[in-house]
Amino acid sequence: MAIAVSHATPAASVQCTRVEWIIVVLCRLRARGVASPLMASIRLTALSKSYRAGSLAVDGASLAIADAEFVVLVGPSGCGKSTLLRMIAGLEECTKGTIEIDGRVVNDVAPRDRDIAMVFQNYALDPHLSVRGNMRFGLDRRRSYPSAWRALVSGEYRRRRRDESQQIEERVRSAARTLGIEPLLHRAPRELSGGQRQRVALGRALVRNPSVFLFDEPLSNLDALLRSEMRTELRILHRSLKATMVYVTHDQEEAMSLADRIVVLRDGVVQQVGAPTELYERPTNRFVAGFIGTPTMNMLEGTFDRVDGADAVVSWHGSSIRLPASRWGALGARLAQGCRVVVGIRPDRLAPCHPETPGSVPGRLVALERYGAQCDLVADVGPVRVTARCGAERVGSLREGDPISMAIDGNSAHLFDEHGQALATSR
Ligand code: ADP
Repeated sequence: MAIAVSHATPAASVQCTRVEWIIVVLCRLRARGVASPLMASIRLTALSKSYRAGSLAVDGASLAIADAEFVVLVGPSGCGKSTLLRMIAGLEECTKGTIEIDGRVVNDVAPRDRDIAMVFQNYALDPHLSVRGNMRFGLDRRRSYPSAWRALVSGEYRRRRRDESQQIEERVRSAARTLGIEPLLHRAPRELSGGQRQRVALGRALVRNPSVFLFDEPLSNLDALLRSEMRTELRILHRSLKATMVYVTHDQEEAMSLADRIVVLRDGVVQQVGAPTELYERPTNRFVAGFIGTPTMNMLEGTFDRVDGADAVVSWHGSSIRLPASRWGALGARLAQGCRVVVGIRPDRLAPCHPETPGSVPGRLVALERYGAQCDLVADVGPVRVTARCGAERVGSLREGDPISMAIDGNSAHLFDEHGQALATSR
């Protein structure tokens, strides 16, 4: 989807030109009816899929996706994301539950009649067809002609065939221009780079002008730089097309950068649905907290020790973590003394500090990873390895192997009970 990859101009101006160009071309496409998909809402109700008796790949998923929403299904490998997407596409039968697209139950509707276009990880291009042939393929198969015998006598067959072919060519060219692959239309897929192939796959979906786009890990085969560039362009494309998009990835960063809303799955079960910031700031359980965010949240397993004043105190490997009542309310009323809890701290809320700082815990720095303006400090604190992310200026003369103290701020902590469920804050 990069529009012009070989400019010698600075990155910022290239980006700006691309954005403007995409918008201009899309306006043109829309005027021609290429980029104005019907919008569609999707509703999944108690959807389950079982491939084998006794095990569920998707277990009772319910989800409402609004018109023009960009929803990302995310979770570790094998959690059921692709199965869920394939059920929406009609490529897998549902074992239980219903799928509605724009209010119509489509469980028994064939994939080709669901007005959906799907883009796969492996591009699924026909190696025997050119880029143009691949992009035209779906439309060519849907062309409508008068019956052959009538065509023979009237000559209408040839005329309509020519007209339709020209219209399809126009749509292919417009979509190819949008995606920056017009000069490649004559090439075979084997003559393209991975990024170009993925653009062809996207173009093939775009020319169909569907109500819903489904993406199954479409960027996984690309290198990190191209992936991040294409994410941005996909987001721009979504905003311009205003189409409903459902996107599957195992990469939470990709999910965070693309989604209007994220659906986190684990073992076929939906764990949480929400906007990226909501999932980051208010994860519903330990799994979501650990899955969303980079570096991953530090999980400190301790016990609820006592109430001191109004504040709760969790003991953790000989240290005390104070959870202020101003944030947590009366935790003493919610937790039994001595019960196990997990205090979750985002790496950017953990910071190296002076050893005398109240509430700090001593440890040893095992790795110092520098990322320009930011650094990750990986330290062994008691039996636990924690990661702190901070500005490079805070590292000072620290070296790997040095003793280090970490300040734990209970005000920005997350708290999970022994079953991994998040305990709500009072604000
Ligand atoms: P994900 O996309 O999250 O990696 P999938 O939806 O592909 O996960 O798979 C979910 C579960 O269903 C996995 O345990 C996988 O082994 C199983 N599965 C997927 N497809 C099939 C199939 N065609 N036959 C049997 N089991 C399958």
